[in-house]
Amino acid sequence: MIVAMNFLAQARMVYRAIEPCMDRVEFPLRVGDIGDKSLVMSPAAAPRWRNERACQDRVNTGGTFSASLTGACCELEESLMAERTDELARDATWCEEEQEVGRSEIRQTAATTAITVRHNFESAHRLPQLGGKCQNLHGHSWWVEATVAGEAGTDGIVVEFHDLKSYLREWIDGNLDHGAMLGSEDELVPALKAADSKVFLFGEADPSFGLSWPTVENVAELLTRVTAGYIRSRGWPGVRVSRVVVRETHVNAAEVSW
Ligand SMILES: [Zn+2]
Repeated sequence: MIVAMNFLAQARMVYRAIEPCMDRVEFPLRVGDIGDKSLVMSPAAAPRWRNERACQDRVNTGGTFSASLTGACCELEESLMAERTDELARDATWCEEEQEVGRSEIRQTAATTAITVRHNFESAHRLPQLGGKCQNLHGHSWWVEATVAGEAGTDGIVVEFHDLKSYLREWIDGNLDHGAMLGSEDELVPALKAADSKVFLFGEADPSFGLSWPTVENVAELLTRVTAGYIRSRGWPGVRVSRVVVRETHVNAAEVSW
């Protein structure tokens, strides 16, 4: 049974690798081979590894990764694995041949890797449509986290960190930092513009078209559009915005994700 146990440890590693992008994985997923036999993970079986102890081997989710079937992997809780063997057998097919296994190459068909860039800016806004204290012009120290995901290329990267970070920082600094974010129908707009004060209008034109007021939710949507537009302009294949978080205070944040 030692071979089957090794395969289960390997399956746990695979699950950890694909968990962030489970919706994009094509099942059944081939986990590994011994000789001409394969272990295949089905969608029903995959979540059962969610809470299992993970193997500490390094996993490159960008495409091909190696899993050691000896050493640390084999030292996983064998008793637990033995208990689960029957259960897992219903959903996974593995080689039952007992043979010595060294290293095995596992190829993922739809692995993605997410990278995140951060930036902060100082900006005023107000929300007159809500009344209360939010209708007063006030400022926040905003924080942005933009995450993009895709399959790492042969160069080992999803996108050029420097390029993405530079673009977002320049866009934010140029358009939002040390300015005021206001709805295009806000009464304060003419006065601030007359005073030559920096104003970014919401709701009037791309990329804020349809986002009437500068709520934290709409700022997150705005920066999602900006990030997505840059990705499109670069033509990075298979790369998409997966998550944008904007914080206006330590306790208020909005997240756009999919
Ligand atoms: Zn505010």
